[in-house]
Amino acid sequence: MEWWISFLFCFTAMEWVAWFLHKYVMHGFLWSLHEDHHVPPKDRKIQKNDSFALFFAVPSFFAILFGTIYQIDYLQGAGYGVTAYGLVYFIIHEVVIHRRWKFFNMSGPYIEAIRLAHHHHHQVQGKYGSFNFGMLLPPFVYFRLPPDELKRMQRDRIH
Ligand SMILES: [Zn+2]
Ligand SMILES: [Zn+2]
Repeated sequence: MEWWISFLFCFTAMEWVAWFLHKYVMHGFLWSLHEDHHVPPKDRKIQKNDSFALFFAVPSFFAILFGTIYQIDYLQGAGYGVTAYGLVYFIIHEVVIHRRWKFFNMSGPYIEAIRLAHHHHHQVQGKYGSFNFGMLLPPFVYFRLPPDELKRMQRDRIH
């Protein structure tokens, strides 16, 4: 298999994996690690939540390593696909949305849609009742309606 096929497949699949992990694991039995992302600590910059990066960094490191050693193109592609998604996730989530590091910023209709969708995720501070668990593919409604309308809609959903 060509390396770029597994690269694209893994990059795309990671959005689903990230959604699943966020919804069922981070807001599930590993909430203790995710909690300080919803209620950020004031005394330290690094969050326990950041450790989730290792869930993907370790397997993709080994995929790239063994893919290179044994010249398995699709394994390398898979490792780079997961790594690329992780980089994009970091830039969008930590830099652009939360501004934890202000290296640069981005704007535009797509960025505003995912920014608003994720801010709505953070409107619910606790483990339960949140929504918008994905990152790069927000519900399509965020692309269709003006921001004020969306804000009101989402407020109405929270009781
Ligand atoms: Zn969350
Ligand atoms: Zn967040």
